[in-house]
Amino acid sequence: MSTSTGALASLPAFLDGRTKRLLIGGRWEAAAAGRTFTSIDPSTGAVIAELAAADAVDADRAVTAARAALVGPWQQFSPRDRQALLWAFADKVQEHFDELRLLESLDMGSPLGRRRPGSRAWEAEVLRYYAGWATKIHGETLPNSIPGSVFSYTVKEPVGVVAAIVPWNRPVANAVWKIAPVLATGCTLVLKPAEEASLAALRLGELLSETGIPDGVVNIVTGEGESVGAALTTHPGVDKIAFTGSTAVGREIIRASADTLKRVSVELGGKSPDVVFADADLDKAVPGAGMGVFSNSGQTCCAGTRIFVERPVYAEFVDRLSDFASSLTVGNSLDPRTRIGPLVSQQQLTRVCEYLAVGPDEGARTTAGGARIATGDLAAGYFVEPTVFADVRDEMRIAREEIFGPVACVLPFDTLDEVAERANDSDYGLAGGIWTRDLGTAHRLAGRLRTGTVWVNTMLLFDPAVPFGGYKMSGYGREMGPHSLEEYLEVKSVWINTD
Ligand code: NAD
Repeated sequence: MSTSTGALASLPAFLDGRTKRLLIGGRWEAAAAGRTFTSIDPSTGAVIAELAAADAVDADRAVTAARAALVGPWQQFSPRDRQALLWAFADKVQEHFDELRLLESLDMGSPLGRRRPGSRAWEAEVLRYYAGWATKIHGETLPNSIPGSVFSYTVKEPVGVVAAIVPWNRPVANAVWKIAPVLATGCTLVLKPAEEASLAALRLGELLSETGIPDGVVNIVTGEGESVGAALTTHPGVDKIAFTGSTAVGREIIRASADTLKRVSVELGGKSPDVVFADADLDKAVPGAGMGVFSNSGQTCCAGTRIFVERPVYAEFVDRLSDFASSLTVGNSLDPRTRIGPLVSQQQLTRVCEYLAVGPDEGARTTAGGARIATGDLAAGYFVEPTVFADVRDEMRIAREEIFGPVACVLPFDTLDEVAERANDSDYGLAGGIWTRDLGTAHRLAGRLRTGTVWVNTMLLFDPAVPFGGYKMSGYGREMGPHSLEEYLEVKSVWINTD
């Protein structure tokens, strides 16, 4: 494995040394209690910004602002106005995309080279997709069997004030996936980004303010999950919680929201199977399955971390995947040569290193990586080697628990029936992968995987038009596609006696 170092890009002007504030009712406000916290560049361990640490008082201020906007100026926005607003915001995101990429890389360590400078912003496409939907949300005229002349129809109405609580692993996308359907449906929002990476969300808030959005439609509160996040989950003024994060916190949020019976959608963790059949094109399957685990340093909810390989090609696949893992350039997230950046935080580093020790302890064979990188320029950052564990058994902790690091577990299998059963033997059900040249095999297994997404001969593809979400303990609700809109809409039935 080679390593590379050096912060090769200049810092965004947004990082001007001033404490970042909360966006509440269209104004940038300090936290009521005046508390702050710091954000750290995981490539170097250096503090890059200080941010307001909101608490329950700030959560209340933000919800109040969102409620005032909902029943106030936002109501005057026609579907066409919301469409225009989303489109204008998309243009802003596109215009400032290189800056947003840079903020994201600095804040959570995703390699800058992952997206080419000036490249079309995928997140802008999401906003444009939902801009189109703003004018197409409609109810139905429904026949009824009531005697007389009684007419019935439905209307779709915004669910109201949404609290969106999101993780750190894709800061721009995580925010946009919530903002887009909120604006399309006419809801209002309090967005709570993750403590580890809030800067891109705050910059998005500035860009939104430049589009002429009414004050209070989108509010952004930064701070701890247990403080401001928890306050949002019990606040009586919140109608819906849109949560993305771990299954453990998702469970807490569902419990906390029960007293006020909020609508809840939860996009949670995963331990996705990726199944490689003996007839697969290994030239594609090896890097495809490899980056299906290692991209974003394995900090991807739908990473295909359990790689089942049909026995005739098992040994060859393990060798080739191990060579692939060892060839990946690990380095500072700002270095354009970097393929694998750091983990997001010291806490995540400690967690992943624990699993690097658990693997061999449980009897897995380490065929690539297996250790922290703590040398040279990378010593102060949170880097681990892309790791391959071979001869993993289903019952091992490394095969059952979400590691959220660049760790691939490889397991042999013999038949489709057997692998279908083993792939489904997991609490999670977010996604699955299949590599085969046989369309029948692909269809048969795709039909049997209990997962919200199945990729065949590819991994980690997303499109704004295609829904994404989990089965089982990976959550409920869908993001993307028209399906996401339903999560933000109420259905009202109207009866009219025309006699
Ligand atoms: P996390 O659950 O620790 O935190 C997510 C968010 O919840 C953060 O903003 C955090 O501050 C907040 N939070 C924490 N405790 C809270 C509480 N008691 N009340 C309210 N809010 C609280 O997750 P993470 O470590 O930030 O992210 C990693 C996890 O997210 C992984 O499990 C990953 O699989 C999952 N994830 C899922 C998807 C998906 O679409 N299914 C996408 C990305 C990440």
